[in-house]
Amino acid sequence: MQLLLADQLGPHFEKEEKLLLPIVDNQFFKRNYHRQKAHLIRYAQLARAKAANVELVRLDSYRDLKDFQGLTSMVSGSSRSFDSLANSLGLTKLANPGFCSTKDDWNNYLAKAGKRLRLEDFYRLQRTRLGILMVGSEPVGGKLNFDEENRLPPPKPGLGLPTPYRPVEDDLDGQVRAELDELEKSGKATFIGVDGPRIFPGDREQALAALNDFIVNRLDLFGPYEDAMDSRDWTMAHSMLSVPMNLGLLSPLEVVQAAVAAYESGHARLASVEGFVRQIIGWRDYVWQLYWHFDQDYQNLNELGAHTEIPAGWKDLSAKGIEANCLSSTLKDVSQRAWSHHIPRLMVLGNTALQRGFDPKAVNDWFIDAFADGTPWVMPANVIGMSLYADGGKMSTKPYASGGAYINKMSNYCGSCRFKPTVRVGEDACPFTAGYWNFLSKNSDRLRGNHRMSQPMAGLKRLTDLEQLLEQEQKRESL
Ligand SMILES: Cc1cc2nc3c(=O)[nH]c(=O)nc-3n(C[C@H](O)[C@H](O)[C@H](O)COP(=O)(O)OP(=O)(O)OC[C@H]3O[C@@H](n4cnc5c(N)ncnc54)[C@H](O)[C@@H]3O)c2cc1C
Ligand code: SF4
Repeated sequence: MQLLLADQLGPHFEKEEKLLLPIVDNQFFKRNYHRQKAHLIRYAQLARAKAANVELVRLDSYRDLKDFQGLTSMVSGSSRSFDSLANSLGLTKLANPGFCSTKDDWNNYLAKAGKRLRLEDFYRLQRTRLGILMVGSEPVGGKLNFDEENRLPPPKPGLGLPTPYRPVEDDLDGQVRAELDELEKSGKATFIGVDGPRIFPGDREQALAALNDFIVNRLDLFGPYEDAMDSRDWTMAHSMLSVPMNLGLLSPLEVVQAAVAAYESGHARLASVEGFVRQIIGWRDYVWQLYWHFDQDYQNLNELGAHTEIPAGWKDLSAKGIEANCLSSTLKDVSQRAWSHHIPRLMVLGNTALQRGFDPKAVNDWFIDAFADGTPWVMPANVIGMSLYADGGKMSTKPYASGGAYINKMSNYCGSCRFKPTVRVGEDACPFTAGYWNFLSKNSDRLRGNHRMSQPMAGLKRLTDLEQLLEQEQKRESL
């Protein structure tokens, strides 16, 4: 019998006739998950268990799987801890079809990569090997990457796209809500964020509807506005498909194929389709492979010696005491939906955590708990590596720190903020602009040797008000 975990709920995972789907309440006892994330996982499991060949078992702990003989499992998907549990239980392991590359493909990449790991090289191999957007050995459109066409700020009137697909809640949502209420009442589980309504697909049919909605209504504008943020539009032209893909409800290859078909039929421009394909066969697989490539200790790296505790307004998602409009809006969005798109994650939340020296492992875990698509495999490369530079440059060549000018250029947050993005000292000083220089100054010894930081470091030297700025940031109590 095949074990079916909560990230393996689509048909491409079904390799055996009989399936065992365990539901374990204690997964919600150890950490404070977003209520909507807990709801979605439980809904998706119960919906999957309706199939005649699926046996649902409620267990106190995953360790109780020892009582089931001859189980097979597609481990090596989302978490190292389940992988080691599977080893200790002696489960037979099957290859995981939830990604677009195998261990052999990764080893092939490593053999060619030399010392420096680069997404671009991995992506090139993936495109060629899978033959996606390729004519023979040549990329469609003559180049592999159309990123320079994809950096527009939000248009003033807004994107004007239709509201994204949203499932209609049903009786099962009611049952899940009652189960989670019960867990909360018992004092065993504490959730964060607003409860529902459920906005993400929880079964295969809903997932296909969400995919179709993205392909028809938003894919064409995905590329140009990929990096833009608009306080009036929380999705922009993003797909929100990380959630059903990470639950295994959609296979990444079917998502990519649907996007390519939209290009081929003239429904979406190449720069958007290429950019979207790169996110999936490139970034998603790269980040997953890196999770298994780096050892367990990668998650505990802290090269910049960052030890600040995550503030209360983050932990409970209330944004309490936070005045920076970009940051409080993003935290409120996460509270409302357990989701934000990539740029608020990286350039607002990650950037704050980097500048203010939040403890990297705590930030890693906070993202897992607060986001509907959060999984253990996705965070280390995105948080420890890309956002916080806590790995000292194993993943990125320089820290992703940026000041208010970037946020001002790529969003409409600054217009209604009480701070000014161009001001670094005084009452109106933008915490991101001041925080940027403060970060560079605090880490100047560590960053001086990095040639990609030579320009910012030279800028730091030229600041005439640095002393005042450092004093101001040292006294700063909230953002
Ligand atoms: C700090 C931080 C935290 C993140 N947390 C998560 C997370 O919990 N779960 C998650 O799946 N992704 C995470 N990402 C990556 C990325 O932000 C999300 O995949 C994306 O925002 C999901 O929204 P979407 O489906 O609309 O993506 P789109 O913008 O529509 O992109 C399409 C798909 O590409 C994949 N993708 C794009 N970028 C990445 C990336 N850097 N890493 C992995 N996959 C990527 C996703 O599967 C995504 O669905 C994180 C990134 C950062 C910087
Ligand atoms: S002024 Fe600074 S704090 Fe305010 S929204 Fe802009 S970047 Fe954020």
